[in-house]
Amino acid sequence: MLNDRQRDFLVSLFPGDSILLDPEQAAALGVDSSGHAALPWAAVRPQTEEQVQELLRFAQAENIPVYPRARGTSRVGGTVPVRGGIVVSLLRMNRVLDVDATDFVAQVEPGVVTGQFQALLKPQRLFYPPDPASAGYSTLGGNAATCAGGMRAVKYGVTRDYVLGLSAALPGGRIIRPGGRCHKDVSGLDLTRLFVGSGGSLGIITKLTLKLLPLPEAQASLLAAFTDMDAALSAAQLGFSAGILPVSLEFLDDVTLEAVARAGCELCPPGTGAALLFRLDGSEGAVLADLERLRAALEPARPLVLETAATPGAEERLWEIRRTVSQALHRLSPDKSGEDVAVPRGRVPAAVAAFRAAAEGRGLRVACFGHLGDGNIHVNLLYDAQDPDELVRAKAAKEGILRAALDLGGTLSGEHGLGLAKGPYLAWRHPPEELEVLRAVKAVFDPQNIMNPGKEWG
Ligand SMILES: Cc1cc2nc3c(=O)[nH]c(=O)nc-3n(C[C@H](O)[C@H](O)[C@H](O)COP(=O)(O)OP(=O)(O)OC[C@H]3O[C@@H](n4cnc5c(N)ncnc54)[C@H](O)[C@@H]3O)c2cc1C
Repeated sequence: MLNDRQRDFLVSLFPGDSILLDPEQAAALGVDSSGHAALPWAAVRPQTEEQVQELLRFAQAENIPVYPRARGTSRVGGTVPVRGGIVVSLLRMNRVLDVDATDFVAQVEPGVVTGQFQALLKPQRLFYPPDPASAGYSTLGGNAATCAGGMRAVKYGVTRDYVLGLSAALPGGRIIRPGGRCHKDVSGLDLTRLFVGSGGSLGIITKLTLKLLPLPEAQASLLAAFTDMDAALSAAQLGFSAGILPVSLEFLDDVTLEAVARAGCELCPPGTGAALLFRLDGSEGAVLADLERLRAALEPARPLVLETAATPGAEERLWEIRRTVSQALHRLSPDKSGEDVAVPRGRVPAAVAAFRAAAEGRGLRVACFGHLGDGNIHVNLLYDAQDPDELVRAKAAKEGILRAALDLGGTLSGEHGLGLAKGPYLAWRHPPEELEVLRAVKAVFDPQNIMNPGKEWG
């Protein structure tokens, strides 16, 4: 808890409604979309880098935990103040400072909503590719702190590939500004990349310099359905062998397809074992030519369905199958828990089989879908949380799934991070000598472990 002196200091630094001290109000900033929650001692809403800097000087001197947060769409409890302390909402630092169509660079504050930023670039025919499914409401700062991925990662990479530089406030009030506006920079260790994906464990990002691309002129999509996952993966390989690099390559397994069919989507016939969705982009002529080449490349895999779409309306119709997944899965069970493991691309069918065995061996079903193009699988365990026995089995199945992903050369999280939800499994992925290095690096930035403590290695 804060004492009177500490409260007075915070009120002077954060006047008016930029501080929440009433526990009921502050509680709203102690929860995120993981469902985890904890009560902070206070929540503050800075508008300037100087306020963040002063706060971190004070927090280190007083040894108070600090929890940065933006829109709270973290799936893993990344924002939750598990050790009390001060929650810092970055949503009032939300200015786009500069968009430069010659340098192909933008400078932004962390609280800018990603989708709004992308929309703002469009009239200038500029493009910021990272597109987590939460882009409509999550922020550029949150995306950078989590190294958010998304559907365009196959061709364009993830958030890490678009952060050229940043400013960050560190515990004790130091400010660092690694990187800059250059698209190439090998001077010193890459502190920018170290910050991207650090989940608020090193300091608070106060500014980002982002790389932009020219906006592609056109896009098109293709849906292909197959008897099973092996056939789908072979087909995807045929597409790559034809020299086509899609923007997105998504898959849905048979359980997921059963759910979307029950939700009224009739794109795939009963008995379909797996479906693939491709998206291509580029100039208009190139996209149409690639679409035809992709269609021809997939035919030898004898798809049950092969549909192409080259207009926005037709594409919408195909992508409905992917958009409805999350809601549709509730038709199969009252509750689901999602893991976002990743495995090497060629191991996806083996991974899906292993995840199924981990669930079915405990009397549960599992639905797998996601980003085939980068081996990032959303594994949804289906269960009934009202049944205590099912809850116990679901936890055991989750652990079986994480083990199976690691056994296949994969990782615990492709894009959501570990946070609270998977923090306990950190040592499954990283051997002691690696954990020691991780902790030593954190200590350079945050010697007293006040930044987002209680998660992962902090
Ligand atoms: C429906 C839905 C779909 C999603 N789809 C995807 C997806 O496709 N791909 C994907 O990668 N993720 C996805 N996510 C997860 C989530 O949206 C991302 O992790 C996103 O990047 C979080 O952004 P945010 O603004 O909500 O940040 P928050 O959730 O508020 O914070 C996330 C983490 O970043 C830290 N943080 C936030 N701002 C700062 C800052 N300025 N400085 C330092 N640390 C900071 C926080 O401490 C926390 O650890 C999805 C979530 C939902 C709810």
